[in-house]
Amino acid sequence: MKKEKRYYQIRIDYFWLSILAVIIVISIIIAYYASAHEQTSSQLVSTKHRADIDVTFDDLRSSLENTSECYLCGNAEESLMSYFRNFDTIGLISLNDWYVIDFPLKNYDENGNEVESATSTSFLSGNTGEISYSSDGTPSRGMASIDVTLLENYEIDTNMLEDHLCQNCLSKVAASLEYRKTDGENKEAIPLCIVDFKTLEIYSLQDYWRAYFVRDYYVEMDFDDNIVRTEVFYLPERI
Ligand SMILES: [Zn+2]
Repeated sequence: MKKEKRYYQIRIDYFWLSILAVIIVISIIIAYYASAHEQTSSQLVSTKHRADIDVTFDDLRSSLENTSECYLCGNAEESLMSYFRNFDTIGLISLNDWYVIDFPLKNYDENGNEVESATSTSFLSGNTGEISYSSDGTPSRGMASIDVTLLENYEIDTNMLEDHLCQNCLSKVAASLEYRKTDGENKEAIPLCIVDFKTLEIYSLQDYWRAYFVRDYYVEMDFDDNIVRTEVFYLPERI
């Protein structure tokens, strides 16, 4: 009698154990499907996030009749390029008002001739209405920087570029303005670029860039809302 009762009790234990096992198996299956579903939806989100759009300016057409007045390659009085073209260095252009700032990497006199000078650091700052900027440089070290603060709601003035650049220069500037944004994002091209005074090539200052070489000048850039910080180092190749 005593033995029988014990047998019965073991059966009860087995019964509850099996129930518990079934519950565990079901929970595992549910957890597996739940995580699989979660993965699928996070994949969907990241696919959506990757829907980037490249905004281009290939359709800009020059309306400048006298190409000798081109702001980049010509001699327009409003542009400082005819002065800076004597420089071996590089600069930054605020495109909406074509304000050219040079990186003080070498010392030049008022005629644009390079002069040797003792160790010194130069500072310059200003406000053009379109941008406020500050530049500093140590020519003896071959390093310089320019920080630019743009207007709160900046927007590139393409009419201004079409009016004052020849088609060749306009195409170079237009190519540098290409930028990337997420579908639906409210984002504009940054109205700045880097210019090589020697070759008149134009380099992008859009926010997907971090660094590049312009001849022997290494340019680094950093973007923070409407502030663009650029640093340049003269790094000639070792021969
Ligand atoms: Zn031109």
